[in-house]
Amino acid sequence: MVSHVALRSLKLALLGLLLLQGCASSTGTYQERHKIKNLTVVFLDEESLRHEWQALSGRQPVVFASQTSTGGPTLKTLQGFYDWPSNTLYCPKWNFEVCGHELHHAVLGQFHSD
Ligand SMILES: [Zn+2]
Repeated sequence: MVSHVALRSLKLALLGLLLLQGCASSTGTYQERHKIKNLTVVFLDEESLRHEWQALSGRQPVVFASQTSTGGPTLKTLQGFYDWPSNTLYCPKWNFEVCGHELHHAVLGQFHSD
């Protein structure tokens, strides 16, 4: 069952430990630690993403959703998704909004000089 979908017009609540704004760390007292066992990350292009999504979920990668403000239907296209049974994250490479800057570091190591 594929249960977490990232759509273009939705904010993605990604994995709780990932900072989306780069490498800076805060100095507060709040901490929340998560360990992810056997996580697989798959970077793939849009066509492959749609193919994987359809194969795993059996659903269309494009959905119509009503927009509350205008009432008109909007088109939402798949950006990425998390497959719970296989602990696999499918997302476009270098798309930090979908898969997170720090997650790219976890997968690729250091990729910029800052
Ligand atoms: Zn970085």
